[in-house]
Amino acid sequence: MRPQELGTMRLKVRSAVQHAVALCGAITLCVVVFQNFAPSARSEGRSAKALRSLRLSQGWPDRAPRSLGGDYELSVGVEANLIPDEAKKEEEEEERRRQALTQVATATTRPQTQLEDIFITVKTTRGFHRTRLHLLLQTWFQLAPKQTWFFTDVEDEEYNRKTGGHLINTNCSASHNRRALCCKMAAEYDAFLHSNKRWWCHFDDDNYVNVPQLVTTLADYDPLYDWYLGKPSIRAPLEIINRDNVSQRISFWFATGGAGFCISKSLALKMMPIAGGGKFISVGEKIRLPDDVTMGYIIEHLLKKSLTVVDEFHSHLEPMRFINTDTLARQVSFSYSQYGSEMNVLPIDGLDTRLDPTRLLSLHCQLFPHVSYCST
Ligand code: UDP
Ligand code: MN
Repeated sequence: MRPQELGTMRLKVRSAVQHAVALCGAITLCVVVFQNFAPSARSEGRSAKALRSLRLSQGWPDRAPRSLGGDYELSVGVEANLIPDEAKKEEEEEERRRQALTQVATATTRPQTQLEDIFITVKTTRGFHRTRLHLLLQTWFQLAPKQTWFFTDVEDEEYNRKTGGHLINTNCSASHNRRALCCKMAAEYDAFLHSNKRWWCHFDDDNYVNVPQLVTTLADYDPLYDWYLGKPSIRAPLEIINRDNVSQRISFWFATGGAGFCISKSLALKMMPIAGGGKFISVGEKIRLPDDVTMGYIIEHLLKKSLTVVDEFHSHLEPMRFINTDTLARQVSFSYSQYGSEMNVLPIDGLDTRLDPTRLLSLHCQLFPHVSYCST
């Protein structure tokens, strides 16, 4: 190669190297500028990613993100207004938030509900103390004697003693009419408000409550949020005439009282202005419907909170023989009834039907075989 050609070649190589360096510099600058001047987009991306991976790893059902709403939305909103100089500080702040988010998520998916958090009320009446109430005292009451209270319509020293002082005379009338039933439900609700517990669960005196499963079921829901858990006995929402405007119809779901239902403290507190201090009775009077329907009206129609259906609650409005007996331990409540000569009871083996016509003793023995009368 001639010296002249060599010189030209050197110039070309130098120029190419200079261009390459300039290009690299420009790319680096772009990266630095992007990193420093776009912290909000990056942080938002990470928050969303963190949330997504939390959801995936914890297998959250649909309802859970709602529980995070406040924290999550607040953090996204604040990030959007940050100035670049604070990027580092924000990085640390975001880490702290992420840790807090994880704690909230853990607490939300498993609120650590225990039996002590539940206030169980049972509606009964003077004519059923020796029969239905007695059966409850022999069975599931033994597993929750401190948490369970009976609401009746008479003083009964004997059964007050047998229930450990948990028999409350509501002074409501002893009949099956709407007013009497709403009167007792009002007393149950007001007692819960005074109890300082996280959950209120109502049952009828012909319900068997599977206490450990009740606790397990409630543990899936956070009582700091609004929950109305139970099971309807109709296939479509109930439609009634709006008494404030008779040309209008309103429709809502309600949980059948005879299957039992549970209400979180958060929701019970929201019901207070409408139903507290005995006002529940006036609402029942106004719509002229039974106590469980009145409950649905208040929660679904007036407060606009939806019933969450829990299939494991069972009233005698459904045929007990359809309950799969392999799943007894996973059900929350059961019932029994008699229509004419036909019994609607669980199809389970155990004690003689003359000794145990309702099958509740046999059910109790299947769930808790160590109970003394089960081995005879
Ligand atoms: N009940 C009552 N007063 C009465 C009759 C019944 O408080 O005069 C209560 C009863 O103890 C039960 C609930 O109301 O907890 C439902 O009664 P029942 O099971 O007899 O009738 P259902 O409505 O289930 O057909
Ligand atoms: Mn009943």
